[in-house]
Amino acid sequence: PQVMRYFDERCQGSRRLAERAKAVIPGGVQHNLAFNHPFPLAITQAEGAHMTDVDGNRYIDFLQAGGPTLLGSNHPVVRQKVNEVLDSCGPVTGLLHEYEVKLAELVCQSMPGVEMVRLLGSGTEAVMGAVRLARAYTRKKWIIKVGGAYHGWSDQLVYGMRLPSTGRMEAVGIPRGATGNTQECHPNDLDALRRKLQLNRLRGGTAAVLLEPLGPESGTRPVHPDYNRQVRQLCDEFGALMIFDEVVTGFRLGMGGAQAYFNVKPDLTVLGKCLTGGYPMAGAIGGRKDVMMLLVGGIGTTTRRAFVGGTLSANPLSCVAGYHALLEAQRTGAAGVAGRAGDRLRQGLEAIIHRLGLPYVVYNMGSIVHLQTSGVLLLDTSNIFKLLRVKNEATQRKHMMEAMGAAYTAHGLITLAGSRIYTSLADTDAVIDDALNRFED
Ligand code: PLP
Repeated sequence: PQVMRYFDERCQGSRRLAERAKAVIPGGVQHNLAFNHPFPLAITQAEGAHMTDVDGNRYIDFLQAGGPTLLGSNHPVVRQKVNEVLDSCGPVTGLLHEYEVKLAELVCQSMPGVEMVRLLGSGTEAVMGAVRLARAYTRKKWIIKVGGAYHGWSDQLVYGMRLPSTGRMEAVGIPRGATGNTQECHPNDLDALRRKLQLNRLRGGTAAVLLEPLGPESGTRPVHPDYNRQVRQLCDEFGALMIFDEVVTGFRLGMGGAQAYFNVKPDLTVLGKCLTGGYPMAGAIGGRKDVMMLLVGGIGTTTRRAFVGGTLSANPLSCVAGYHALLEAQRTGAAGVAGRAGDRLRQGLEAIIHRLGLPYVVYNMGSIVHLQTSGVLLLDTSNIFKLLRVKNEATQRKHMMEAMGAAYTAHGLITLAGSRIYTSLADTDAVIDDALNRFED
């Protein structure tokens, strides 16, 4: 009731806008992450570690747009550089801009496995392109993805890969054949991966193993520290390319991403999010030069080429934003600073969990903090979730996290679905300590 009172009394402006949106936007919600309960907040200001909604409520921002704003929201240096390019040549020309080259150079210098870069429109597009490129290079068929990881919303790589008959929302509208050349195996299960690679050898071969180096869902299900190295060995043994999806980890775990952290070089790397500092069109394929050269060619080219494209890809604004955001991240050691904020938050949350005896687990990999309920808490959520029917424990747990997400919001904390937190360069000790008090409440 206290949480609902907050939304009723303090969020009238957001509620009105959310209601208005429902007439012209399906469900009233556009962004994947704006599904916060009981309705999305309308934000009018964002700066550093904070944002303010249309009703004037101020929040600590641990959503950070789902991860791209490692420097904190709306960083002034990046904004100024973007404005300079906007003034000089506008948002897009379709030709070359120096910032394209500067950004690509900086990425190649930073990421051990990246010798060349192709900029695209989003992480989804970049994963689609990387998979196509792997098939073109190896002339093999299968893609093995690890766990039910999210690699964007393309048909062949859909979340969890459930078929329409299962009724899972993610799979509605995806024909059975679309996932026909994609396989999944559980994280950490190397035997299962080997068996798939062996079987595939007799029926078209494995073009690539696609994985998130921290484990599915940014490490929600973490992998053993040796796992990536062992997958690398299996890929080499079976002639499959190894694709790291570093959409979340790229630059956030350090300038060299997870590949530097684990000291494992993938053949191809998919980047997004931090790549453009939170500005639009964040997606890139990077990798070995001999593989990347299959992306050479313009429209109408006759060379053997894996085709990728995009009208707004590599536009000057994305490139200037990315270049200066990454330069600033490098200069300030942003991944390290945000990582220490993540450590401080995790330690504080651990202390609260133990002190209050809550059925929660909290863990972090630098600036990526996971806060999960480890069991089913029998909370009275009837006010918030009167429309939701609890089917099983996993569903109950998800609803529980969403309910907690709403409670965090009512205490001035914005998280990702109540279960994930991204810290940033803007998270000083004072911000983290303020947040811990709110979490404890
Ligand atoms: N890969 C991973 C690991 C992601 O977390 C996401 C998005 O959250 C994507 C790919 C898709 O990126 P985008 O949302 O830019 O299409």
